Amino acid sequence: MLSKKPAWTKKDLDEYRKKLVARRNEIVHKLSEFQTESKQIETDIAQDLADKAESSYTKEFLLSMSDAERNELLYIDAALKRIEKREYGNCLMCQKEIGRKRLMHLPWTPLCIECEEKAETDSA
Ligand SMILES: [Zn+2]
Repeated sequence: MLSKKPAWTKKDLDEYRKKLVARRNEIVHKLSEFQTESKQIETDIAQDLADKAESSYTKEFLLSMSDAERNELLYIDAALKRIEKREYGNCLMCQKEIGRKRLMHLPWTPLCIECEEKAETDSA
């Protein structure tokens, strides 16, 4: 599909995966601080999220979050899946490379800067 292979080595992908996992843990931790009532459950969920991205447990947990955090977490999980499938680093809309600088700051973004701007203009 792509004319040239993106030069992502396994080492590169691991680096970005680490960023994503760290950010995901941060969100999960932050959310667990808000929910003091069910501490044990959150510990289980944090464990669960660390193990696998998808489960009904995770989905229930996602429903209890704010939209922004939920969206970010979904983006992070989607990005982790793209890393697994070696599809990471290209824009989902135009298929061009997103750019490592951008991914360094927003490792979960599925769009290049141009497409994101377009999407924002469209929805505004
Ligand atoms: Zn794009």
